[in-house]
Amino acid sequence: MIKTWELDPGFKDEIMKEPGGEHLTSCYQCSTCTIGCPITEIVPSYNPRKIIQMSLLGMREEVLSSPDLWICLICQTCTARCPQDVGISDLLSAIRRIAEKDEEAGKLKIESSRPLFDTAFLHTVEKYGRLYDIGLAMEYYPKREGSFIAGQKAMMKDYMDFGMRMFFKGKMGPLGGHGLLKGVLPSKIKKTDVMKKIFKWAEEKEK
Ligand code: SF4
Ligand code: SF4
Repeated sequence: MIKTWELDPGFKDEIMKEPGGEHLTSCYQCSTCTIGCPITEIVPSYNPRKIIQMSLLGMREEVLSSPDLWICLICQTCTARCPQDVGISDLLSAIRRIAEKDEEAGKLKIESSRPLFDTAFLHTVEKYGRLYDIGLAMEYYPKREGSFIAGQKAMMKDYMDFGMRMFFKGKMGPLGGHGLLKGVLPSKIKKTDVMKKIFKWAEEKEK
């Protein structure tokens, strides 16, 4: 049940001020995004159209605390198909940034390890200029599990599970990366200083 007195009419403006959130009000609720989303095959209740509708209504608290906000793969299928050019995956990123700001301000507890994963991903790209699987895993798992030892155990468990499936499909070497042994050691792009400049520029823009 929607409690009208709890709605935040300024929420849509807040989203539209974030980069990627500009086209929120263009959505006319056709559901094309949800029908084609691959996540719905695994999580049938996942519904990006509903997240947009709730955002338009001003259901700020419900949207920002929803675990569904964090499961988008950023595959861009919805973005390619949306007749209104809403840019759904960018829009969801914009809403996630608001949730992260609320968490930093102590107003919200995000019930998802996705921000930790995204941060570890960005750290490897900043450092090496490209993804380095093992570096990402070594940062992500201990933070997710709360200690280095627990992180190593969780990493091995996942490796034995989906890591092996990826290995047999030729997507991962025995120790990470692509191909048989590639990715074991990090390989940097030549101009990592350019990458660092891009990250510095993005940080300045966020202030
Ligand atoms: S496809 Fe575009 S217009 Fe249709 S519901 Fe999704 S975001 Fe809205
Ligand atoms: S970008 Fe996200 S919401 Fe859109 S189709 Fe892909 S997984 Fe679904």
